[in-house]
Amino acid sequence: MLAAAVACGGEPAASVCPRTPPPAAPAQEDASAPPPTVEDARAFVGKTEEDLRRLWVARDRAGWVNENFITDDTEALAAAGEEATAAYVAEAITRSRRFDAIRGELPPDVARKLYLLSIAQTVPAPRDAKGRAELAAIETSMTSTYGKGQYCPSATSPLLKFGKDKCLRLGELSHVLATSRDFGELVEAWRGWHAIAVPMRDRYARYVELANEGARQIGFDDVGALWRAGYDMAPGDFEADVERLWGEVKPLYEALHCFVRSKLQARYGKERVPDGAPIPAPLLGNMWAQEWNNIYDVAVPYPREHGSLDVTAKLKAEHWDALKMVRQGERFFTGLGFAPLPRTFWERSLFTRPRDREVVCHASAWDLSYGGDLRVKVCLEPTEEDLVTIHHELGHDFYFQRYGALPILFQQGANDGFHEAIGDTIALSVTPEYLKSIGLLVASVGGERARINQQMKMALEKVAFLPFGLLIDKWRWDVFSGKVSPAGYNAAWWALRTRYQGVAPPEQRTEHDFDPGAKFHVASSTPYLRYFLARIYQFQFHRALCEAAGYRGPIDQCSIRDSKEAGAKLMAMLSLGASRPWPDALEVIGAGRKADAGAMLEYFAPLREWLAAENRGRKCGW
Ligand SMILES: [Zn+2]
Repeated sequence: MLAAAVACGGEPAASVCPRTPPPAAPAQEDASAPPPTVEDARAFVGKTEEDLRRLWVARDRAGWVNENFITDDTEALAAAGEEATAAYVAEAITRSRRFDAIRGELPPDVARKLYLLSIAQTVPAPRDAKGRAELAAIETSMTSTYGKGQYCPSATSPLLKFGKDKCLRLGELSHVLATSRDFGELVEAWRGWHAIAVPMRDRYARYVELANEGARQIGFDDVGALWRAGYDMAPGDFEADVERLWGEVKPLYEALHCFVRSKLQARYGKERVPDGAPIPAPLLGNMWAQEWNNIYDVAVPYPREHGSLDVTAKLKAEHWDALKMVRQGERFFTGLGFAPLPRTFWERSLFTRPRDREVVCHASAWDLSYGGDLRVKVCLEPTEEDLVTIHHELGHDFYFQRYGALPILFQQGANDGFHEAIGDTIALSVTPEYLKSIGLLVASVGGERARINQQMKMALEKVAFLPFGLLIDKWRWDVFSGKVSPAGYNAAWWALRTRYQGVAPPEQRTEHDFDPGAKFHVASSTPYLRYFLARIYQFQFHRALCEAAGYRGPIDQCSIRDSKEAGAKLMAMLSLGASRPWPDALEVIGAGRKADAGAMLEYFAPLREWLAAENRGRKCGW
């Protein structure tokens, strides 16, 4: 639960953030009214922040209750909170446009707040009430179609053994993708889940029309342009910068793809996984083939070393419960010098799945008061994956903690990728050496083979994700701009998935299908590029913090644990919130002023070298 991202400020940088003027002047402006002054702008921003605090706190409180006690009534309360906020923000943006004329005279903080306001709504509501209601209804219905999605296999299907019921939900189908190594089962589970999105297809086309109308009314060409505007540079420059980053990491991705494909060929045969062709998407351990760590058992470089990295077994054997895992996560942050989490965090958070009611278990972090009412909502199990998850979520909470005293419009990450990257940065310091020190690994962790295994495990998660993290929004940018029309939705989707990820559907897809809708963030209108950026940033942050900690050595083995120097840099960056353009924040942590994939490449240097030797003689690419 995070408000969306940051923006071009009103500083000189504003000139590189062009905004198309809206088609018509705001209706309620009186032409005879005197031109606004700087003082009017300051008062407007102050009043808006006051209103936003009230609205956002109410919205989030309803959202929290809804996600912790799912009923029709709490759903209605949560939706009402969303709608009230959307209506207010749309109107406030319209009213704020009267200050465009004096933009150059505004003090930087006022100008920046006005800009942050203009991008505060991820899906801008159209001005007319009918369109606004229709858009809200479509959004809710798509999220709910996704949430209720299930596949009911025939009575003889082998998939039935994976469920408790006749029909399988996403969790159970994902479990098939993660654990089955039977080609037929994998394809059936994949096909079954993707069918849930077909009914969204027409609604999605209408949603695009309405949201674009809202975006144009607040001065953007379309919703994609609004989403690209949150990065302190012109949308076109931002797109180019993202392509540059992808170009830097692409060779590493291709090497990983080549190696994994060869392992899958050994498992499933070359007829199913041919040379020089994209990999069938259901074979990679994940419904969207976005992270491949679930097939670590297939791709492990040195199988006999495998057991030495099994943290999950140890967590279970040592009876780690959820609370102990969260305490361990908090301990990492306090070791860096962060203040402990407040007492209310422990009283009000949800740490495990309750037995008596429906909750949204998708992990999230909250500050309900926009001022220190920190919480997490997670359903922890004693697994390594969940130990990483809790570090990730606490990263959000400690970000909230650091910027919780700022004006509410500045209470955001330096950009949305920053917010996602913080906890992951900390998790990079949870090295095998560190795990050994807290009793979660016993075996010797120093060997070169164990190191390559560890790198592979990380790469299957972090490197495999990169093209997917990029293409979701590439598809949406093209859809919002009209470059891809509804008649070509699915073909465009697969063209991108083939081009960037090198994966293919397991069978013919048509324009009857709507495969993008089978991904949560498309059905729920959540921008996605932040996750791509976060993957790049976290290594950049990690390298800078290791340096601050005085660490000398390969950065894949660095842990910043208990380094007050690294902690001070991290805290300084987090304390800025969105008050400054993100390159300033990056500079504060000591990582330069540009996004740089070099740190990620440095981190994976041992694996890159290993893959180059391993892939020699193989026909890579697709
Ligand atoms: Zn997150």
